[in-house]
Amino acid sequence: MDDNCIFCKIVAGQIPCHKLYEDGRVLAFLDVGPLSPGHTLVIPKHHAVTLDDLPDEDAAAIGAALPKLVKAVKSATGTQACNVLQNNGEIAGQVVMHVHFHIIPKPAADAQADAGAAGTGLGIGWPAGKLDDATAGELVKKITVALD
Ligand code: AMP
Ligand code: ZN
Repeated sequence: MDDNCIFCKIVAGQIPCHKLYEDGRVLAFLDVGPLSPGHTLVIPKHHAVTLDDLPDEDAAAIGAALPKLVKAVKSATGTQACNVLQNNGEIAGQVVMHVHFHIIPKPAADAQADAGAAGTGLGIGWPAGKLDDATAGELVKKITVALD
């Protein structure tokens, strides 16, 4: 537990949340600033700032909980699509420095028109570049070495 971390305080019950799911390692609750109805946060109970700092057991528990929660959130909100988002580091958009996955339902186009203040889900800018073979070769070498 990090005493200055808002999500650790939620895990400890010191701050309330709209709880959706809990097991020994994972907690899920509604985001208080939803991008669409049903916007859910899934967090490890263990404090880690970024995903690469998360112990294997907690990562496995999150991995097992996510599909169940995606299924339930889609079913409950009547949406066919959603984005699962996980920001690591301030310049990648992370505001709360405790690992969390967002499940953000994406209402269908006709429902988006009526959404009003409820939100229409995640807006995505995807400024794709082009991967050339030389760069790909270099990256494969570096990343596979880093995996060892
Ligand atoms: P991120 O930008 O990925 O760090 O997202 C942090 C998210 O946490 C935002 O979507 C906030 O609305 C949400 N959030 C912050 N404080 C709380 C809280 N006490 N309960 C629920 N959600 C929160
Ligand atoms: Zn924390």
